[in-house]
Amino acid sequence: MSFQFGPEYIRAIAPYQGGKPISEVAREFGLDEANIVKLASNENPLGMPESARQAMLDAMSDLGRYPDANGFALKAVIGTKYAVAQEWITLGNGSNDILELAAHALVEPGHEVIYAQYSFAVYALATQAVGGKAVVVAAQDFGHDLTAMAAAITADTRLVFIANPNNPTGTFLPAEAIAAFLAQVPPQVVVVLDEAYNEYLAPELQYDSIAWVRQYPNLLVSRTLSKAFGLAGLRIGFGIAQPAVTDLLNRIRQPFNVNSMAQAAAIAALNDEAFLAKSAQLNSAGYVQLTAAFDALGLQYVPSSGNFVLVHVGEDDGAGARINLALLKRGVIVRPVGNYGLPQWLRVSIGLPAENATFITALNAILA
Ligand SMILES: *Cc1c(COP(=O)(O)O)cnc(C)c1O
Repeated sequence: MSFQFGPEYIRAIAPYQGGKPISEVAREFGLDEANIVKLASNENPLGMPESARQAMLDAMSDLGRYPDANGFALKAVIGTKYAVAQEWITLGNGSNDILELAAHALVEPGHEVIYAQYSFAVYALATQAVGGKAVVVAAQDFGHDLTAMAAAITADTRLVFIANPNNPTGTFLPAEAIAAFLAQVPPQVVVVLDEAYNEYLAPELQYDSIAWVRQYPNLLVSRTLSKAFGLAGLRIGFGIAQPAVTDLLNRIRQPFNVNSMAQAAAIAALNDEAFLAKSAQLNSAGYVQLTAAFDALGLQYVPSSGNFVLVHVGEDDGAGARINLALLKRGVIVRPVGNYGLPQWLRVSIGLPAENATFITALNAILA
């Protein structure tokens, strides 16, 4: 062939690397699936809430029909919970969908998109997919340097991605820092505030980002049901923004981007305060369990506000891959983060107490 399909900016994309599925690790390493522990994708170790399971069973009888394209019932629940009108809500096939819709709706080839070093991989993917120019701002203590990010805004900037807490580092930006940043952003630049781990925040860290949405027409807050709400496999998330931005996103989303089962399950999960409280409590106990083990092993880690911890496993750039492989052989799946430029680190999702213990035992044996 004397030509190549597709634009150069698409061919340059490095595909997203997810956590290895349990079935794949079982096949590759000759292990029994039942003995494998997966702490690699920041999923809720409790699985899905029982309330959502029941709602899905009820919804199953209607699967011969298309989903509600406007997600009326789900938007009503979101609207009540976050005190916004339906016209402020975009439903997404996971919140990744919202991130991509924002890039597609707002960025033309050559326009600049700003995000932080060591921030969520999908920001780079969404930017590249539309031919945007990525402006990656150096991290500060593994987190976002909002002063530098504000300074990076030019006349060509269309979008800024901020993750709070950030994945894969777990760093947290206090409300005052975000408020000060938003006040500096010019009105034609849209800020996506990605709050995938919001429900895990300790009470003293919680803040009201929806109040900022009311203040700023150029702010889009994205939330997911994949993490604390326990519905990662269903693919459901949402964005909240004033009608001008929301209208744009809804013009280009697929009409049926969120399936009926996901809509039904999300309604149940959003109303399930007990499940959320249990998830947050389990997470904070697991954080103590993991970080105590890291302290005992003398391993550095980044203090995390999410449901995962980034831990330093060696001084050489082969360390992350090496320890990861050794863990896989012992049936423990965590996330190597070399693709984030963190080859000496591993990201470990917080699991059930027994899962955390299995990981700690394996890590102790490997490092001994
Ligand atoms: C997990 C995660 C998401 C959520 O992805 P979904 O598509 O909703 O499953 C979004 N942003 C960040 C930073 C994440 O870590």
